Amino acid sequence: MRWSKSCIPTFKENPAEAEIPSHRLMLRAGLIRKLTSGVYTFLPLGFKVIKKIEGIVREEMDAIGCQEVLMPVLHPIEIYEESGRLGSFGPELFKLQDGRQRTFALGPTHEEVITMIARDDMKSYRTLPQCLYQILIKFRDEIRPRYGVVRAREFIMKDAYSFHQSAESLDETYRAMEGAYRRIIERCGLSYRIVEADSGYIGGDESHEFVVLAGSGESTILSCSCGYAVNIERAAGRELETPRGARSAGAFERVHTPGMTTVEQVSGFLSVTPREVVKTLLYRAGDRDVAILIPGDRELNDIKLVRMFDGEQVRFLDDGEIKRLTGGPVGFSGPVGLSAETAVYADNLVKGYDSMIVGANEADTHLRGVKAGRDFTIAKFEDLVWAREGDLCPKCGAPLTKSNGLEVGHIFKLGTKYSRAMNAEFLDEAGKSHPFIMGCYGFGISRMVAAAIEQLHDKDGIVWPQSIAPMPLIVLPVNSNDAEIRDTAYRLEEEFERCGIETLLDDRDLSPGIKFKDADLVGIPYRLTIGKKLKDGMVELLHRSSRRVEEIPVAEAVERTMERIKT
Ligand SMILES: [Zn+2]
Repeated sequence: MRWSKSCIPTFKENPAEAEIPSHRLMLRAGLIRKLTSGVYTFLPLGFKVIKKIEGIVREEMDAIGCQEVLMPVLHPIEIYEESGRLGSFGPELFKLQDGRQRTFALGPTHEEVITMIARDDMKSYRTLPQCLYQILIKFRDEIRPRYGVVRAREFIMKDAYSFHQSAESLDETYRAMEGAYRRIIERCGLSYRIVEADSGYIGGDESHEFVVLAGSGESTILSCSCGYAVNIERAAGRELETPRGARSAGAFERVHTPGMTTVEQVSGFLSVTPREVVKTLLYRAGDRDVAILIPGDRELNDIKLVRMFDGEQVRFLDDGEIKRLTGGPVGFSGPVGLSAETAVYADNLVKGYDSMIVGANEADTHLRGVKAGRDFTIAKFEDLVWAREGDLCPKCGAPLTKSNGLEVGHIFKLGTKYSRAMNAEFLDEAGKSHPFIMGCYGFGISRMVAAAIEQLHDKDGIVWPQSIAPMPLIVLPVNSNDAEIRDTAYRLEEEFERCGIETLLDDRDLSPGIKFKDADLVGIPYRLTIGKKLKDGMVELLHRSSRRVEEIPVAEAVERTMERIKT
């Protein structure tokens, strides 16, 4: 492949619209171009990477016995009414009308379509289990597309669906899929974590996310050396069970805390650690007022709060409501003396307090030495705070570490959610009907391109792992006007191609400086430079990721380079 006649438009400046490295580098290295918000073209180098990743995914799917199919992009809207998913998708479902005013959706995933196939064509237990997959463009009307192909409105995904007679059979396929996903990401040369996850709008019983580690990734996870990992949104704050707060035998005392409304001010003034103070947060949940107690050094996780009230609307009380409910101003609320109708909930960590410092529901006053159970009643303990680095692993008790990453895969045990809703059943040995037990398994192909760049880049550009690089080798003649250099470069390119090594020849009439910078930017694993030393019969082979340079005789260039590429 010759650069001068290829569509590889690189540029030097950082595009203003790009917030994360992969977006920046994909634009600068000429991998993608934007058509409109959240919609991209993959140019030749970018598309080569897509095809490499697709190839690995396809091999691993086939290896565990999945069958490849191709389902339509255009879905009649009625199938979403039948599955009951129209509401849960909301505005993210792309809708359009045909010439006869019938409404269609552009497929976001294919649970409905595949469930209809199973309903019509897998009627007997004898045909089960089966797993079908496809690699196809999906559509999602992201409210705020960003980060390039990471949050795009149109993206390439591998999705697989499995059908089973029993939960055990589903579990077997689920584990096989987990193994296949591990191998895919490992073959792509990336480090990752497997994270217990929420099922979200897909629904179902068990689900795991595969997160490629990257500093700027939008998923934050806590993980342990024992292999445990969890999305921080779900992680429980868990600490060594040391008692908190001073031991207090007698009744609580009132302390004057003039103008001190924050934990930092109160703890500083009273010379105690912030964790000895307990924050009282007041909310309206449905039609009642509730008080939530959390340690002074923690933050409330609103996702957990909403989950605790199970669909009821939850909002902060405003200043006037707080004054009416507690009798005191904002910043001095506490659990002591609240009316019996105001239920007090507390985070699990509050169990560990001997005594606590809380607001007195009165201006400029706190209470010290307050005891739960004696001075007020806690209706219920729940996991309510954000977990953080240093919290303890629930599996082995070691401290968890925090990292960021990009979710590239997500596997779900769906159970019978779709088969029941869509009346998809098979007949068992006795001729009795049962709904199919299902699993579904997504893998973001275009997102994987971004994830690889996020994890593997340096200040000069992309550093592709060889397995998914657009090609393993770039041949770079430093001066295309020097006939000997130029002819050697052309000859070597032909020889490499003949040996099956895909090669990019930078035959552009540009300064060596620009060509070296571009080679670093596009990140091809090996660069063979043909320069001045050719007079002495030598060329130079550079390994992009280690920057290791070898001088090799031009006569051995093909053989030596191939050795490197193959190891
Ligand atoms: Zn652990």
